[in-house]
Amino acid sequence: MRVAVVTVGDELLVGETVDTNAAWLGERLRDRGVTVERMTTVPDRTADIARVVNEYHADYDAVVVTGGLGPTHDDVTVEGVAAAFGRDVVRSEEAIEWLTEQGGYSHEELADGTGEVPEGSRVLPNHEGVAPGCVVENCYVLPGVPAEMKRMFAEVAEEFAGEQRHVVTVDATEPESALLDRMATVRQLFPVTVGSYPGEHVTVRFEGTDTEAVEEAATWLRERVDPVEE
Ligand code: AMP
Ligand code: MG
Repeated sequence: MRVAVVTVGDELLVGETVDTNAAWLGERLRDRGVTVERMTTVPDRTADIARVVNEYHADYDAVVVTGGLGPTHDDVTVEGVAAAFGRDVVRSEEAIEWLTEQGGYSHEELADGTGEVPEGSRVLPNHEGVAPGCVVENCYVLPGVPAEMKRMFAEVAEEFAGEQRHVVTVDATEPESALLDRMATVRQLFPVTVGSYPGEHVTVRFEGTDTEAVEEAATWLRERVDPVEE
């Protein structure tokens, strides 16, 4: 299963808020065997949201959108997603019923605009907050508040599945350029994906669906590099 993640928020684009939702979703989806192929951040602007959701819903098995839910003027994600699918925005009676009967809110407490979703959506109740999420075709719309997003993702996590991939890393103290020949050889010898991540030392990352091949590739390299002392 191939998935695109879209995070919405002006504050993310200027670095005022670190996009922890994208990182968290990337890890959870990977754990489920799903391949995340896009992580895109867009401003709180209806047309921008509509454009990426429209493109990604056609290209990927699912799109996960977080942020910009709620009744304030800069929460336009529902409008953007509705536009991407050519649907109207409607107030969901189901969402209002959930908020008043299980969420503990009275009708008067709910601001205008609360509970609005693209027409025909499957509503996802918000157990940690107010704004409901929704599923429109293959697009999952979740809140931006990390605790709310995580709780809501748990409700739909099982809908994301793929072949489990095994990961092993090997750390080496040699400079990345000195490892080029061995990385080329290990890639030829084993059916695995090899990534190289330089930092304080170089972390070589092996990933693949064949656990044995991943382990063998890592062992092959580990025996041929200057290791990082523990
Ligand atoms: P929102 O509902 O998207 O306007 O955001 C509600 C709160 O969640 C704000 O404090 C945001 O900064 C925060 N938030 C929104 N998106 C993200 C994200 N991708 N990663 C971390 N925090 C976020
Ligand atoms: Mg916002």
